Amino acid sequence: MTTHFLSKLCCPFDKSDLHLQVFTEKEPDLIHEGLLACPTCNRLYPIIHGVPIMIPDNYREAQLEQPFFVKWESQLSLEAKEKAT
Ligand SMILES: [Zn+2]
Repeated sequence: MTTHFLSKLCCPFDKSDLHLQVFTEKEPDLIHEGLLACPTCNRLYPIIHGVPIMIPDNYREAQLEQPFFVKWESQLSLEAKEKAT
């Protein structure tokens, strides 16, 4: 998923522009793992294997997302950490 494409995504709930944080890239400008954060509702959308996880709350699986947040804990902003735990 390219930075350009991801920068066009907005929050599915309130249509706010999402803040993109890149953790790893497969090649320059091709994001492998990262995080999209909504400044309005504070939801976090992890990007796992290049795919942004943007699904309704009740379909999200905390169990599947947990390893991602543990792995990147040191990279998360303070607000993101509070939200993820
Ligand atoms: Zn939002």
